[in-house]
Amino acid sequence: MVFDAPKQSLRLRDTPQPRTDPGQVRLRVSSCAVCRTDLHIVDGELPDPKLPLIPGHEIVGRVEEIGRDVTQFRKGDRVGIPWLGWTCGECKFCRSGRENLCDRARFTGYNIDGGYAEFVVADARFCFSIPDEFEDVAAAPLLCAGLIGFRALRKCGDPKRLGLYGFGAAAHIICQVAHFEGRKVFAFTRPGDTETQKFAKRLGAGWIGGSDETPPEKLDAAIIFAPVGALMPVALRHLEKGGMVVSAGIHMSDIPAFPYRDLWGERALCSVANLTRRDGEEFLKIAPRIPVKTETEAFPLEQANEALSRLREGKLNGAAVLVMEN
Ligand SMILES: [Zn+2]
Ligand SMILES: [Zn+2]
Repeated sequence: MVFDAPKQSLRLRDTPQPRTDPGQVRLRVSSCAVCRTDLHIVDGELPDPKLPLIPGHEIVGRVEEIGRDVTQFRKGDRVGIPWLGWTCGECKFCRSGRENLCDRARFTGYNIDGGYAEFVVADARFCFSIPDEFEDVAAAPLLCAGLIGFRALRKCGDPKRLGLYGFGAAAHIICQVAHFEGRKVFAFTRPGDTETQKFAKRLGAGWIGGSDETPPEKLDAAIIFAPVGALMPVALRHLEKGGMVVSAGIHMSDIPAFPYRDLWGERALCSVANLTRRDGEEFLKIAPRIPVKTETEAFPLEQANEALSRLREGKLNGAAVLVMEN
């Protein structure tokens, strides 16, 4: 599925088989999860996407062809392709273990064609092996919702009481990880969304409520998954001294002003950006031990627009996954 300009819908189009360069693998895609970032790109909220573009950066498939320099994968291996598609390896960020901040980074389904397709090529150094415990469809949401959610969780330090604002694909995975690690999860949903609150409870949340509610205890940290800037000062008000609010999304509406006393006491506001390969390796190691259960809703590839609208309207429980007919 391709789009030619922001705010247009995706169209099915025959594209030539992508060429496999020496460092690349070519996958036959079996599934690709739908991320909120795809929606931001399609809606024109992120600058300068490659156009025309095939979106999708939570890709699971099998290796069909290997470039001559690739040693870590073989034909037939099950491989995952994440958002981070390429980094320079030379800038100060790459050289200090922060390749997620690379000045010249390229991202799958944004600067590079992604996985809303039957075939995709990727730089093998940025691909992951998928643990055997996960079926293809269940594994797809791990590759961004899981992985970047996990980076956000680690950014929080070691919180005993963790708030999650916006209970979609990422939160439903991170709730399970946090619960497994013995943290008490406070799940904040859209006010009145009792369906999602029940869902959060089932996944281990110790307290559930609307984003307009005050939790019964102070939080040590909160992660904001919803693209709503107004939630940052709201979460900040519920923090214990020394606590942190982490914004995990790539795009957010403006953050309203708030009194300095809410930040006082060494509280912090920050964002996480992208992922490092190390985040991926650590998360894919811990995920089968929990084991993380992803809640997915499958759509055939040609219904990508429908999947995106359902996400835009907040009408999904868990993650939408496009499933290719192979
Ligand atoms: Zn770099
Ligand atoms: Zn994503």
